[in-house]
Amino acid sequence: MRLTKFTDLALRSVMRLAVSGEGDPLTTREVAEAMDVPYTHMAKAVTRLQRLGVVEARRGRGGGLALTGLGRGASVGWLVRELEGEGEVVSCEGDPPCPLRAACRLRRALRDAQEAFYATLDPLTVADLVASPTGPVLIGLVGRPPG
Ligand code: SF4
Repeated sequence: MRLTKFTDLALRSVMRLAVSGEGDPLTTREVAEAMDVPYTHMAKAVTRLQRLGVVEARRGRGGGLALTGLGRGASVGWLVRELEGEGEVVSCEGDPPCPLRAACRLRRALRDAQEAFYATLDPLTVADLVASPTGPVLIGLVGRPPG
């Protein structure tokens, strides 16, 4: 199973924000630069995270992005499910649809495997993801403006 680039960017931004101090909010541009990804791609991921209630944007002096309480304690499995959507790992209903789709044992097995993948991530929280050695590396990432 392969995650979309969008989900990966969203997870990267969540991890970076999880190690930001209360008095050290980052802008979307700073997160994008730290993760070495285009600003526009990161902005879309951050918008989605805001809609999920995982990230909030604080305005004004000293403002920036911050994880919400929900975001800090969020299950990684829940987050990945939300970001990936309801899609299956194969396109049985494509154009043209697969003729086996109504009675396919492989489709059932792949659905089970997909669920097992998410279930493995369910017990993990965002806070778990930034424990050492990941957290210190995240803090040390220095953004560089996109070329
Ligand atoms: S063979 Fe089964 S899993 Fe593969 S596309 Fe067809 S219905 Fe889907």
